[in-house]
Amino acid sequence: MATDLFPVVQIRKGIWEIDEFEISSCFLIEGTERALLIDTGQGVGDLRSCVEKLTDKPVTVVLTHNHGDHIGNVYQWDEVWIHPNDRPGLTKKNVARAKESAGEIANRQKGCFDGIYKMFKLVPYDLNEVEPSEDKEITVHDLADGMQFDLGGKIITCYECFGHSLGEVVFLDETDRILFAGDAVNYNLGVSSCPVETTHRFLKRLMDMSDRYDCIYNGHHDFRPLGAPLDDDCLPNAIAVLEDALNGHIVPCNVPVFKGQPLYLTKHEPVTEQVNVRPDGTVIRRTFLRRGRNFVGIDTRMIYEEK
Ligand SMILES: [Zn+2]
Repeated sequence: MATDLFPVVQIRKGIWEIDEFEISSCFLIEGTERALLIDTGQGVGDLRSCVEKLTDKPVTVVLTHNHGDHIGNVYQWDEVWIHPNDRPGLTKKNVARAKESAGEIANRQKGCFDGIYKMFKLVPYDLNEVEPSEDKEITVHDLADGMQFDLGGKIITCYECFGHSLGEVVFLDETDRILFAGDAVNYNLGVSSCPVETTHRFLKRLMDMSDRYDCIYNGHHDFRPLGAPLDDDCLPNAIAVLEDALNGHIVPCNVPVFKGQPLYLTKHEPVTEQVNVRPDGTVIRRTFLRRGRNFVGIDTRMIYEEK
């Protein structure tokens, strides 16, 4: 039986950050009537059982975007909400990728301490227990800009924030004054799915609504402690980097590790450009720019939106 012993931190009364063993963070928000689960991890462990230990309310599952480390356990439920731009290719769990991601844990978070994790088995999951998604159909609903989820006593609003993916969305909890940002903003931001101008417009909008939230939680905790929000420099720096690029100021930099915190004690070679081919054949090309602690990967062939 896959473990449900995820590290969990209650960040407010009725709001939990569920850490999928350093791979990905899911957030559970409970109202008086319903609960909202934001993202479902890579698929290591039994997320549904963990969620059901935290809340007895009916759970609505929403996805910030369609990347493997956010959609992994979605087939544990019968219905899910995702933006239509990101709906194509919403697939079942990729077991091989889930196991591989778990192997990257130490590199993302602990650098050279990988060996200690393996030696003392400090994490409760067994990768042999990662199984394929249940063989069933699920109902997929479309998210839209401004769509609201009434949980009873609090309303969560979805906003489009394209850049990291074509259909990336964020969720605003105005009652608790928290923005749940998925991968729309973080310190190691890949935004080469969209023109820089598009990403900039959406991140600027997040900034413009910052009187409605006090803190931002992104969908991984590898650049912040578990349960703690991003620091205040993250969003302004990301916007500033994109503004530089829009103004023609593009200075590629070396990034020691592009899947995690830049650490010097790493076996990865520095890279200035990362080229990934997605399973659907899309070629993702990222050149890294830097401001303060922020690394932002853009596609320099896509600066402006087409008129
Ligand atoms: Zn992502």
